[in-house]
Amino acid sequence: MNLKKLFKSHKNKLEGTTKSESALKIPAEHYISCTKCKNAILRKEIRNLLYVCPACNHHLRITARQRINITVDQDSFIEHDASLMPSNKINFPEYDEKLTIAAEKSGENEAVICGRCRIGGYSCAIFVMESNFMMGSMGTIVGEKITRLFEYSTENRLPVLGITVSGGARMQEGMLSLMQMAKVSGALKRHSDEGNLYITLITDPTSGGVTASFAMLADIIISEPDTLICFAGPRVIKQTIREDLPEGFQRAEFILETGFLDDIVERKDQIGYLTSILKIHSKGGAG
Ligand SMILES: [Zn+2]
Repeated sequence: MNLKKLFKSHKNKLEGTTKSESALKIPAEHYISCTKCKNAILRKEIRNLLYVCPACNHHLRITARQRINITVDQDSFIEHDASLMPSNKINFPEYDEKLTIAAEKSGENEAVICGRCRIGGYSCAIFVMESNFMMGSMGTIVGEKITRLFEYSTENRLPVLGITVSGGARMQEGMLSLMQMAKVSGALKRHSDEGNLYITLITDPTSGGVTASFAMLADIIISEPDTLICFAGPRVIKQTIREDLPEGFQRAEFILETGFLDDIVERKDQIGYLTSILKIHSKGGAG
């Protein structure tokens, strides 16, 4: 007697199909595809999954508001300088149109959102960059908002959490954009000199002038898994040196090994991780 046949259960309708095929029976507007493995994820579940693909653990790119929503204590975020708007200071061609498109695409005035909040009950200041606004590029107003946040935090003795995603300095603002690297660095040095804590959470991708200044100047630098962290991107380097780059070059795991990162923290662990650091820094008393 064939025992295998005896115990074989009946197949249900979904057996033998991949998850993507089964999900196709659901109207397309109800799910999104993982940008890495193409797994279908139900839209209504994505917030509970913290925008992480359950099939491959890929951390999907999210907006600055979504990031604030999953990171800070509920209703604790108070925004600063929301009305500061960029302008075309050097009359760069087509920059005005680009700013209009970026504002429509992102629903934001600029590529960074700043404010104060609580995380795990601890008060801190926070800035979060927005990739949908000209790829989180750093113009004058981005630099000004972050500088003001550091000055406010120095005055009020608050730790700062910076969450970065950026293509680097904004070329449409020329030297004024590059100047922000030094300006923010100066403000965060004064914040540091007063004994205040600064943490960065680097997310995919963070590059150029942001990497070369405030993203890498924190007391504690953590990143999400598989994040591209670089100054010049891999394609530019490859074209310049005309050599193949090592596997995983400029990814967070590689950067951790070379000592430029303190840790890689998955999204589900970030609140606990940040709360522990804020608790240690506050010497036990909730702010
Ligand atoms: Zn996936």
